[in-house]
Amino acid sequence: MGWALPPALAGPKSIHVKLHQRLIRILPLGLALGLAWVVMPPTSEGFNLLGGQLDLGQRDYRFFNNFTHATANTYQIPDPDFPGALGAELAVWKGAAEWGSRLHGTGGYDPRQPDGIGSGGSNFDSFYVGLATEPGGVDDNIASMITGFFATHAYTEIPIGDGWRIRFVQGPDDWQDHPDPSTWQGSFPWDIQGTMTHEYGHALGLAHTNVPGATMGSPTQLGVGLRSIEADDIAGVQFLYGVLDPAKPVIETYTLAGSQITLHGRHFHPTNNEVWLTQATPGGDGTPVKVLGVPSTAGGTRLSFTFPNTARAGQVAVKLPGFSDIDLSNSYPLDPLREPYFRQPRAYGTSKVNSMGQSPTLTLAGHASISHGSFALDVSGGTLFGPGIVLSGPARDAKPFFGGTLWIGPPYTRERVFTYQASFARVTIDVPPGVQPGDTRFYQVWFSDPGDPQGVGLSHGLWLTFSE
Ligand SMILES: [Zn+2]
Repeated sequence: MGWALPPALAGPKSIHVKLHQRLIRILPLGLALGLAWVVMPPTSEGFNLLGGQLDLGQRDYRFFNNFTHATANTYQIPDPDFPGALGAELAVWKGAAEWGSRLHGTGGYDPRQPDGIGSGGSNFDSFYVGLATEPGGVDDNIASMITGFFATHAYTEIPIGDGWRIRFVQGPDDWQDHPDPSTWQGSFPWDIQGTMTHEYGHALGLAHTNVPGATMGSPTQLGVGLRSIEADDIAGVQFLYGVLDPAKPVIETYTLAGSQITLHGRHFHPTNNEVWLTQATPGGDGTPVKVLGVPSTAGGTRLSFTFPNTARAGQVAVKLPGFSDIDLSNSYPLDPLREPYFRQPRAYGTSKVNSMGQSPTLTLAGHASISHGSFALDVSGGTLFGPGIVLSGPARDAKPFFGGTLWIGPPYTRERVFTYQASFARVTIDVPPGVQPGDTRFYQVWFSDPGDPQGVGLSHGLWLTFSE
């Protein structure tokens, strides 16, 4: 789906722009496609490259919401991981965010993406600047709809290094923004989010792959199958931008004090950070709202700034002085009116079915409040009166473990040994020392199950965020 002009055909940018505009105007799409593929590198096993990568100064992008289909802006439920965006804007933002270096906020509240949004694991992160008021030029980094009939759902124009333009074609497609395809209306439904994920893969330098199931491969499920990038796509973005470097700055969460925002993370510059924010007013030239010269504290782990009135709820990123891919942090969802630790605890992964055929569960009873000093976890689905243990760790993981999965990463803490009463227990857990509001921790129950071949029962994982 879609196509992209390889730089080999382009030459210097000015020539490329002219040549490209002519291609669009006078050639039927089939011919343009054929021309593009002739000069593409031969297909190999796995991902293919367009022959360039997106410069550090081109990670910003905007969206011009000129979709006219009634089906394109139906979804009006806010997603805390994508604050301030609904409808097609939310779908486009989620599509680009999927390529991010790490999970976008919690990784998403969308049950259709259990692995979370933000799966790239490379030194590449996009930044959502906000709405545009026009489609812009071929290197203005704007996604929008274009009317007319083309033999494709969407395409990307790619000067590569210095920018791109994505067009969703309003041909026969009924463009759909709703994350749940069972709600879709129209004769030719097609998914905005998955299409954006695919086209943004072209923008960052990937060509089509022949690996089945890959986002840069052939579309499935009316485009929905493209939403989540797969191993081959991840290998591609990691080849272009490098595997995520531990030295890349990270925003993990934030706290609010009036209009003062404090980012919590790692590797912020001691004296000279740029804070990037989503713009309040549609239009502009694509530059994020910036707060300049911001120092960090606490060994580069805290960074405070005043939220400017030219910004809105959206994303925040931190840019260090420098020009390497690792000088730009991940993009983190930011709502200036709401702290992320109000988020609900999140179950993830699957339980190992126990010897009585039940799936053990682990839920938070009440709040994980630091000031209370402890909190309660409800565990069920264990053996009738057997012992169990609550384990915790600082990270998510997914390792095979006694016929199930260990969902937490080391170093592990044995939080509490308990005994089931009729397969249920309420277990009190101490808040870990030194925890700050917004910090997260991951919990799982491991219990004795004598009827199991390996004698072990395991719950799913539980992701908690601590509040004050
Ligand atoms: Zn394509």
